[in-house]
Amino acid sequence: MSESAHLPTHGNTKEAILARMASLRDHDVNWRAGRAWSLVFDAGDEVSELLQAAYTMFFAENGLNPTAFPSLRRFETDVVAMTGHLLGAANAGDDIVGNMTSGGTESLLLAVKTARDWARSRRPAIRTPEMVLPITAHPALAKAAHYFGVTAVYVPVRADFRADVAAMTAAITPNTILLVGSAPSYPQGVVDPIRELGQVALARGLLLHVDACVGGMMLPFARRLGYAVPPFDLSVPGVTSLSVDLHKYGYAAKGASVILYRGADLRRFQFFVQTAWPGGIYPSPTMTGTRPGGAIAAAWAVMNYLGEAGYVNLAAQVMAAARKLKQGINATPGLHVLGSPDMSVLAIGSTRLDIYDVGDELTLAGWHLDRQQSPPSLHMTVNMAHVAVTDSFLADLAHAVQQVSQPDARRRLAAGGLRVAQKIVHALPPRLVTRLTSVASRTLGQGSGLSGRTAPMYGLIGSLPSQDNVDDLVLDLLDQLTRPTLES
Ligand SMILES: *Cc1c(COP(=O)(O)O)cnc(C)c1O
Repeated sequence: MSESAHLPTHGNTKEAILARMASLRDHDVNWRAGRAWSLVFDAGDEVSELLQAAYTMFFAENGLNPTAFPSLRRFETDVVAMTGHLLGAANAGDDIVGNMTSGGTESLLLAVKTARDWARSRRPAIRTPEMVLPITAHPALAKAAHYFGVTAVYVPVRADFRADVAAMTAAITPNTILLVGSAPSYPQGVVDPIRELGQVALARGLLLHVDACVGGMMLPFARRLGYAVPPFDLSVPGVTSLSVDLHKYGYAAKGASVILYRGADLRRFQFFVQTAWPGGIYPSPTMTGTRPGGAIAAAWAVMNYLGEAGYVNLAAQVMAAARKLKQGINATPGLHVLGSPDMSVLAIGSTRLDIYDVGDELTLAGWHLDRQQSPPSLHMTVNMAHVAVTDSFLADLAHAVQQVSQPDARRRLAAGGLRVAQKIVHALPPRLVTRLTSVASRTLGQGSGLSGRTAPMYGLIGSLPSQDNVDDLVLDLLDQLTRPTLES
């Protein structure tokens, strides 16, 4: 099949197109074999077949107008009710309401937008609203602050990586409208002290959002299995909203998350309506207009298929695999798991090795782990695909540590090049560094003999004199990545 960067003059055959897509997919990370420790949550072929059938059945339908598709309205209200029951409605009087969204980011954007509009109505004297959150909170919250004109006030976490409630309390000002905690946080997988945050929120008249995007469909089932899960959901006094992604441990198709609120009065601030549009009265509960029916339908299908027993069964396997990995990592000389993760999300750190070098060795061995910083670590989200590969991963991890402990000539070379780059960078005026970073992003991003190795890039980033330079470097990369390429 021939391709170009513009629309083909004549179409191709179905067979040619599908074959081409399959061959392009060959270069993707191999999540089916459990090689990727992020991005994909797969509960096996049975669930996958159901998701595809449900998604396909509703792939053309549009959740924009619930009156046109009572089926989708029913799916969404059922899904919200099921998650609300799982994560909130503790007392008969609790009015837990919510909506489905396209993902955790949209749920968090809405939580912040709702808080801002609540404050505009209830505390109109506030001109520059602030939200106080632990540094470990997901970047979607920073994005929300950026989009909606709320100042994000970041507070360092405790030595155990959990939110420091005393420090967060001290960061509250007359402009504060919202506190945020995670259950668990993405970087180290620990649940913040939500009960204590709830007490502060109640005492100070603030909203409190719990980001349970990754944990909301795992923690309740882990608790049922006897794992010690701290209180984290809407049953905790003071928690006013909670986000939970169904396309993570809910094992739904991508594009499914839920935002829940304590009370319809609060959720009202999420809604939008334009009544004067010549196209008609346009009400909109969430951020998107057209909403894919498939994602809503598939979420409903998988929740009804697995039921509580199915989720508990999946959680049992994932939690056991996570525990085994934790023990294996802590038993590997030079490595340790950061903090004491409450679930199946964890980070590998080291006090004596360059953990990014370990990550590069794992990459060369065919594993995909995200790199983290402050402190440097490798990230793992354990799911069903990993249950069968824990032993081979731990073996490769031990081998990677061995390799890194005796650096070969090639790595020494890369490290030497980096040291020179660092010297140069420190000596240059900031304007030139900006230029250099854009060059570096091009050379380090593709080819240049460093493919598969990211440690040098992280080293370079760490050596840049200001955060602005880092932002520029990464935005340059983003620009490169979203330009058309024609190779393979
Ligand atoms: C994944 C995640 C998000 C963002 O969700 P998306 O679906 O990727 O938009 C937010 N918070 C936490 C803790 C997450 O793990």
